[in-house]
Amino acid sequence: MSQVISRRELIELGLAGVAAATATSVSASPARASDGAVGFAVVGLGKLSLGQILPAFRTCRNARLAALVSGHRDKALRLAAEHNLSEGAVYSYEEFDRIAHNPEIEAVYIVLPNFMHAEYSVRAFKAGKHVLCEKPMATSVADAEKMIAAARAAERKLMIAYRCHYEPHNLEAMRRVRSGRYGRPRLVVTDMVRQSDPSDPSDAWRLDMAKSGGGALADMGIYGINGARYLVGEEPVEVRAWANTNRSDPRFRTVEDLVAWQFRFPSGAIANGSTSFATGGAMKWDMFCANARLRGDPGCYYSGNRLEIFSHPDQGEVKLPDIDQFAREMDWMADVVRGRAPLVSPGEEGLQDMRLIKAILDSVARGGPAVRTDWGYKRAYDPAAVVPVV
Ligand code: NAD
Repeated sequence: MSQVISRRELIELGLAGVAAATATSVSASPARASDGAVGFAVVGLGKLSLGQILPAFRTCRNARLAALVSGHRDKALRLAAEHNLSEGAVYSYEEFDRIAHNPEIEAVYIVLPNFMHAEYSVRAFKAGKHVLCEKPMATSVADAEKMIAAARAAERKLMIAYRCHYEPHNLEAMRRVRSGRYGRPRLVVTDMVRQSDPSDPSDAWRLDMAKSGGGALADMGIYGINGARYLVGEEPVEVRAWANTNRSDPRFRTVEDLVAWQFRFPSGAIANGSTSFATGGAMKWDMFCANARLRGDPGCYYSGNRLEIFSHPDQGEVKLPDIDQFAREMDWMADVVRGRAPLVSPGEEGLQDMRLIKAILDSVARGGPAVRTDWGYKRAYDPAAVVPVV
């Protein structure tokens, strides 16, 4: 398990900004910084960018929108006008490498289909920019490794957009589990499921193995994979998985549908995870410790998440504010770029999930045998230790 870092240690690490935030708590609706904000180019103007990311810039403290990259010039120009950007801040994919010459852009937020993450991350690093990349970081372990190598070669930061690492209910659950108040972590159960619609272009690529890297598992299941790891605070040493996929359903020609997996952690804790693109929706987890049950249902939505405690004198709902998770994540990246915050969700954290997705799919392909995953990955930072709850 990662160590909890004290404020003194953060200051010694030169991360005084985090220490200050830990001491005072970051406000859920912070005031906008007047200068020094890190300029982001958003690459890909699909559902997530339009619905969440572009609106989130309005509440960011340290991050600001500096450019848009899109294949649809009319849409990009309209959005640029809405966000007070000039025409010169709009780039096509073909023109992307020209961002190297725009000093307003310090970081690039990759919000493209998964199979394009590696290419655009590498190109961004070659252009001298930092990269915030959506999950899953890539469609293969090899591409994830390529992205990490490119970040190192360019001496730039690579952060994977694991928004639950910055979300109050998940952070508070981690913090309570780590405190030992509820006894030993024993079992996590996560279900990350929804119906998919192949006529929606945003789902069409998710249902294509080459473009998504794993269907529901790479899209939704990754929240359970990552969540089990941050709730238990350990890395799995063994994985077993099974799938139930109706191949006559045209959605599942190349990807699995219902996947259930089991992680065994070094302490003996177990995680049971499931994911599907053909059931009613949920993004929820239950964490069973020796003396309590913690429940996040919903646990990983954009808003409206809940944290409840059962079987313990703390029984009841833990009331925490809803924050704009995307604003907080971009502000965190901006602080990383400025050297004020630790890189809590680096490329290596994304690579760990890519390797676990591969282990799950390897076990599925062979009918459920155990696959060893004790390759020695250790988180650099426990989110619970360095990210304030609110
Ligand atoms: P989307 O399909 O709605 O948007 C993708 C954009 O990429 C579209 O604007 C599309 O036009 C563009 N594009 C460019 N070239 C393309 C190509 N060859 N094929 C298909 N599209 C192409 O997808 P989205 O839901 O916005 O997801 C984008 C990324 O964000 C994915 O990696 C996804 O996993 C991630 N995501 C994360 C969260 C989260 O909560 N963190 C939520 C949703 C999506």
